[in-house]
Amino acid sequence: MTDPTPENTSTFDAFAWVDRAVCGEPDSQHMMFPDPTNTVGIELAKAACRRCPVVDPCLDRALATGESHGIWGGLTPEERRQLKRRESRARSREAAESSSAAPVARQPWDVKPKTTMSIVPRSDVL
Ligand code: SF4
Repeated sequence: MTDPTPENTSTFDAFAWVDRAVCGEPDSQHMMFPDPTNTVGIELAKAACRRCPVVDPCLDRALATGESHGIWGGLTPEERRQLKRRESRARSREAAESSSAAPVARQPWDVKPKTTMSIVPRSDVL
């Protein structure tokens, strides 16, 4: 059996990153769910995320699952919703741009001959 590593994603445990989470440390476990009106608590949680080595997979997971509570990947629930809306709008814009692109008309001079002819002077004609 292949050892699970980040490079071998087929067998890599999708939640292995949790073991390296800063908020998994004993003193940090409860700080990631501050009251939404507690701006100091929110900033303390975000500060923990800024020094966390697994901020990217954490944010990816929160976005994928629609996590609606707590600080994940350094963002509040509202910031995650805004990020998702921006990403959704960007995808829609890209799709609209690619579908509205006019097809390029093919011109006769774009067609290359299937065979090449070479003109070789014949000595018997001369
Ligand atoms: S990014 Fe923040 S919420 Fe996510 S694992 Fe790290 S410390 Fe915890």
